[in-house]
Amino acid sequence: MSEETKEIRKQMKKASELHGHMGPFLVIGVRIGRAAEQILNPENQQNKELRASVKVPLSTPFSCILDGIQSTTHCTVGNRRLHKKITTRDNRPIRDQRHRQDPNYNRQP
Ligand SMILES: [Zn+2]
Repeated sequence: MSEETKEIRKQMKKASELHGHMGPFLVIGVRIGRAAEQILNPENQQNKELRASVKVPLSTPFSCILDGIQSTTHCTVGNRRLHKKITTRDNRPIRDQRHRQDPNYNRQP
């Protein structure tokens, strides 16, 4: 088994432990996170400057992608380096929680 395969398996195991189960959308998130890390920062795999902006529907299995990205990039909701843009299944944006706290956000001009 190559070192690359061992590393992918290690990251998949870590992601499934974080997420609670293994699934195809979690794998997609891990693959996206790995690609971003490799393209944007090949020297330092835990780049503190990396930010992730993810646009997915807030329903499974799409939301599983978020945990795959969090586990591989170290961009999390908690450290505020992961910004999620929630959409509907037909890709229309849904206003996120931050905007819902603004009482004027939904008012029409
Ligand atoms: Zn899942």
